[in-house]
Amino acid sequence: MIATGIGYDVHRLVAGRPLVLGGVEIPHPLGLEGHSDADVLCHAIADAILGAAGEPDIGHLFPNTDPAIRGISSLEILRRVRSVLEEKSIRLHNIDATLIAEEPKISPHLTLMKERIGAALNLPVTRVGIKATTNESLGFTGRGEGMAALASACVDRPE
Ligand code: MG
Repeated sequence: MIATGIGYDVHRLVAGRPLVLGGVEIPHPLGLEGHSDADVLCHAIADAILGAAGEPDIGHLFPNTDPAIRGISSLEILRRVRSVLEEKSIRLHNIDATLIAEEPKISPHLTLMKERIGAALNLPVTRVGIKATTNESLGFTGRGEGMAALASACVDRPE
């Protein structure tokens, strides 16, 4: 059957951390805080795919209490999600995601993000959608306290 899934994630912005979004390190005074590289975009995408696949969420697969995954690249998380799909004969059709952040501009990095996410998921870049929007200065994203991401995924899977 064709199934869709949604994903949502938030990470706090802090000093002293690299900013990694969509598998790309972006020069910025602040980075996202988290157990892994805190790539909020990849995390939302992983959850959308796992949801479409009928699997438990990313926190179940990658508990933030596990020292083995401290500092892990979220592209590796996507590669592991891809192996879950392969084990269950689930075919990923496409993903689409939106980053919500006041700054920095991510348009200069979109092509590389799509390439890296596509490579991790074995998905042509034409099936990887990434968009970004500000929150019009409203709320925690608007105040620059953190970033949020939303994602959807569509798969074809056995019932
Ligand atoms: Mg996360």
